[in-house]
Amino acid sequence: MDLTILKQRLIQQLRSDQLLGLRSIPLVWPTSKTSTKKQTSGRSANTQSRVASSAAPVDDSSQVEQLRILNETQVKNCKKCSLCEGRTQTVFGQGSALPRVVFVGEAPGYEEDKQGLAFVGRAGQLLTRIISAMGMKREEVYICNVLKCRPPQNRDPSAEEILACSPYLRAQLEILQPEVLVALGAPAAKTLLNTADGIGRLRGRFHDYYLSGVTGEGPSIALMPTYHPAYLLRNPSEKVKAWDDMQLVMSRLGLTDPRKLSS
Ligand code: SF4
Repeated sequence: MDLTILKQRLIQQLRSDQLLGLRSIPLVWPTSKTSTKKQTSGRSANTQSRVASSAAPVDDSSQVEQLRILNETQVKNCKKCSLCEGRTQTVFGQGSALPRVVFVGEAPGYEEDKQGLAFVGRAGQLLTRIISAMGMKREEVYICNVLKCRPPQNRDPSAEEILACSPYLRAQLEILQPEVLVALGAPAAKTLLNTADGIGRLRGRFHDYYLSGVTGEGPSIALMPTYHPAYLLRNPSEKVKAWDDMQLVMSRLGLTDPRKLSS
């Protein structure tokens, strides 16, 4: 393996472990027949692992455990920003720990805050229909938000809140390493791509999300920005564009037999 790639992967793993609270490294590395997935990262390696995963049962226990630790030890009791004061509970995200696609929204709303689950309100129901129309089940993908706590009255998150919370999202994505990320709405797209461009300019083509958090550094994941389902509920005529975006995602994943997105 190329030494530069090896170094990038080691740095990425150490960052992830640090975010998970690891303070020391075992002298004897545990051997496991099913731990190969996390030894690779980046789009092409990840695609290969997911293709392989369709042919044989895959052990997701490592990813499940890493997500559990991140949630239990860091997110659940987080008080890094003032949003902790008004929340009922944090909303970490849910779904497959070995997803081909991760959908990332902006922040929990009223229903999400109440139930502790991402995308369970009306917008969540539309997202479920979109996922289904793409030929997948909701439990096969992973769904989360940039922010883990609900902003009061669903106001836009501040730059400080996004800065405080986005390391959790980055840690989640380092664990999940999907083939494709779908950013739902401008705040998610802008945060993940570190850009000020609006969703209208960003959508309709793939971008690169860098796991290192630094553009151009280390492995990346293909990212498709599209409209947030809540926006689509208010502007049904824009569903056509969102479906165009999802068809590009399906094409990238090799998904066939697309169904029409019902209104
Ligand atoms: S929004 Fe994020 S950073 Fe702020 S308190 Fe909640 S979990 Fe912590």
